[in-house]
Amino acid sequence: MARGATPRPARVLRRLSWGSEVDTNAVRDRLLKRRDELRQRASDASADLRHEADPLSADFAEQVTQRENDDVLGAISHSAREELQQVESALRRLASGRYATCSVCGEDIEPERLAAVPYTDRCRSCAEGGRAAGGRGARG
Ligand SMILES: [Zn+2]
Repeated sequence: MARGATPRPARVLRRLSWGSEVDTNAVRDRLLKRRDELRQRASDASADLRHEADPLSADFAEQVTQRENDDVLGAISHSAREELQQVESALRRLASGRYATCSVCGEDIEPERLAAVPYTDRCRSCAEGGRAAGGRGARG
């Protein structure tokens, strides 16, 4: 007599063939989750910056430490906001069907690149500076 082992729910693993179909629902979920995290982080950092919970100390040395801390918080809040903008624009591209298209050269963005940086809008070669910003190309 076999003891009733609960059968595991069958998990369908779909291999995506790139170019034909992207699992946009999974990507959107991931981006939305990331957006929430970033919003939370940005607002936590700005709440700390306003010293809502912990007012500036009267002690000068303490204040220096708090200011240094504020610099760090400012940087966190800044980078969270920047990433947030990228995530939001990725969500817009997703909605308009241009998610996996490089915004610079119009080619498909490599799937492994999207997996690593889901909000990127550039293919690897464009992101690595295919177009030199300074315009001074190495010649000869
Ligand atoms: Zn490109």
